[in-house]
Amino acid sequence: MKGMTVLRIGRRLVSTMVKRSPAKRVQSTTPSIWVEFTTLAAECKAVNLGQGFPDTPMPKFVAEKLKEVANQPERTDMHQYTRGYGNPKLVSVLGKLYSKLYGLPIDANNQIVVTVGAYLALYYAFLGWIDHGDEVIILEPAYDCYSPQVKFAGGTPVPVVMPLKKDASSSADYVLDAEAVRKAVTSKTKMIVLNNPHNPTGKLFSRAELEAVAKIAEEHDLIVIADEVYEWHVYEGKEMIRFASLPGMFDRTISIGSAGKAFSVTGWKLGWAIGPDHLLAPIKAVHQNCVFTCSTPTQHAVAEAMEDELKIMDDHPEKSYLRTGLSSELVAKRDRLTSMVREAGMTPIVPESGYFMMAGFKGYHGPFESDLSPDPLDFRFVRWLCREKKLATIPPSAFYSPQFKKDNEHMVRLCFFKSDDTLSKAEAILKELKKEMSGGAN
Ligand code: PMP
Ligand code: GLN
Repeated sequence: MKGMTVLRIGRRLVSTMVKRSPAKRVQSTTPSIWVEFTTLAAECKAVNLGQGFPDTPMPKFVAEKLKEVANQPERTDMHQYTRGYGNPKLVSVLGKLYSKLYGLPIDANNQIVVTVGAYLALYYAFLGWIDHGDEVIILEPAYDCYSPQVKFAGGTPVPVVMPLKKDASSSADYVLDAEAVRKAVTSKTKMIVLNNPHNPTGKLFSRAELEAVAKIAEEHDLIVIADEVYEWHVYEGKEMIRFASLPGMFDRTISIGSAGKAFSVTGWKLGWAIGPDHLLAPIKAVHQNCVFTCSTPTQHAVAEAMEDELKIMDDHPEKSYLRTGLSSELVAKRDRLTSMVREAGMTPIVPESGYFMMAGFKGYHGPFESDLSPDPLDFRFVRWLCREKKLATIPPSAFYSPQFKKDNEHMVRLCFFKSDDTLSKAEAILKELKKEMSGGAN
């Protein structure tokens, strides 16, 4: 059409009558792995061990809470706009819960902001605290939204890799190199992002590792973003140590949580940021002009569910979903996937937490290797596996900065929070795959 121009946004070419360029901050944005691989999994009708969400029924007691809310249409407080920084009932119970978990009193009305998922809490933290030129240390592999969010806020992500030990078999074999972190600090460093339990590896940071980070944060006056969305997904008597509970750390930590993760309802997209008044004030400034307030009914339902949990978690942990139900459901799935992956000739890195497993496919050879795409090998393998074998996974090189992708392209990330039926289907595919990979047939 006359006057039409073509704009490039990342890899997409978009035709338009508008001749102006989009904002620089989005110009190099390419589709995230979630956009590409969730779409591909759906297109291929693949068995989905890719994107992290449970395909099992959500906990009944949580569903009941939402039903109760829906059954009371007359309750304005359940269905109309609620308090901007978080529904009063929800922040009140979160205040009680985290006071107990951190071992210090949280002021529910000032030190909690409820957000649209943990994603937004993270973004608020960067927008509220990062100026042009500020540096943010990110431990890699790292959840893939940190770096783009830091850049959107005008900052510079500084990756520090957690190397995987030779002959690794456990997520504990991803090691935090505290000296490398210390060396990465400059006069511009303002923040460090610590994701514990860790996505994609399932690593659970030890007290010694957390204390090493705390020492660096103190020495250099850094703010710590503690992304602890998988705080309840911890296995086999392992201890979840919340960063804000370390001596002196509450004052410099923004802790991020997610009801979607805690209650296995990822689609509810409800999260929170917790921290001292001075760290939350900038977050509130962003929030009041961004979404102002989050969905009320789900906040009510989560508050009610959390109140029930709070009553039982100490005295009857065996009845508590968060303390026991969730991890015992998951550990069986983790162990099943570990055997499946081993059987298939891959090398599982058994996670101590979370609901993802890294697995090496170094011995595999196939058409994906000669694929002409310039992308790392794991991207090519994952696409091939999804299209040809109908098994969806995630390529972990997406969790590394460009300069580190080449050394980290021989693994896949698998989500095991899936029904027995889904896992059985995946098992059948993996068995076939092993035959093909060992027989060399394409
Ligand atoms: N952080 C990590 C480490 C995650 O895996 C996720 C997954 N969604 C998020 C943050 C965002 O959580 P939410 O769905 O609550 O936005
Ligand atoms: N956090 C989930 C994962 O790591 C979902 C990610 C997403 O949908 N953006 O798979």
